[in-house]
Amino acid sequence: MAEQRADQRDDGRTGPPDGADPQVGEEPQEAARAWEALVATARRTVADGLVVGTSGNVSVRIGDTVLVTPSGVPYDRLTPADLTAVGLDGRQVRGTLVPTSELPMHLAVYRHTDARAVVHTHAVHATAVSTLVPELPVIHYMTAALGGPVRVAPYATYGTEALAENMLRALDGRSGCLLQNHGTVTYGTTLDQAYDRTAQLEWMCRLWLTASSVPGLTPSLLSTDQLADVTERLKGYGQRG
Ligand code: 13P
Ligand code: ZN
Repeated sequence: MAEQRADQRDDGRTGPPDGADPQVGEEPQEAARAWEALVATARRTVADGLVVGTSGNVSVRIGDTVLVTPSGVPYDRLTPADLTAVGLDGRQVRGTLVPTSELPMHLAVYRHTDARAVVHTHAVHATAVSTLVPELPVIHYMTAALGGPVRVAPYATYGTEALAENMLRALDGRSGCLLQNHGTVTYGTTLDQAYDRTAQLEWMCRLWLTASSVPGLTPSLLSTDQLADVTERLKGYGQRG
């Protein structure tokens, strides 16, 4: 019996079903669903005040394909037809809009970690902290949720391989870092997790700025042992199962 071609359809015709993309995802609708979720996450960064205008970018990985926000396009204008995707080598495999200028950062995260989603923002408190210290002081136990004290990657021009390299070093053992005089990068196994890590990071930066701005007083910080205790305890956080 002749082997059935991978793209053979039930209706006898060959090729992908209408509207499906043969290059992205296992299932025909997987890429469309991931794009919808990516756009929703990108819009959320603006709605929640973590991003102004077209600053920041979001990506999600499906197999060896990465869906990314296009460069310089307001998120509220993005439609399903704007789906933009690249391979892990940065080659564009889908869409006509130019992918985010921060492709080097997003791809570096996917090449070196188990990330499935990456969020980059210019959140104001986090960016302020990035100009003050080389590492966010351990002001709160949620530091442990990001893998440990959050480092600041030294400044490099946006969109460059140099910035991606600095970011990777700062991310070692962490799921988030600050970019000096620029913003935040976090990653996760889902878009929601990557987004939530950005929101937590911005909140912690705001907390530290608030506590350290009281004249004559200095905030207490957590010790390495205290943080290690939380790291263990967080493994059992939330609902069972
Ligand atoms: P893009 O619009 O190219 O994604 O750039 C925004 C940004 O934050 C660059 O660092
Ligand atoms: Zn940026």
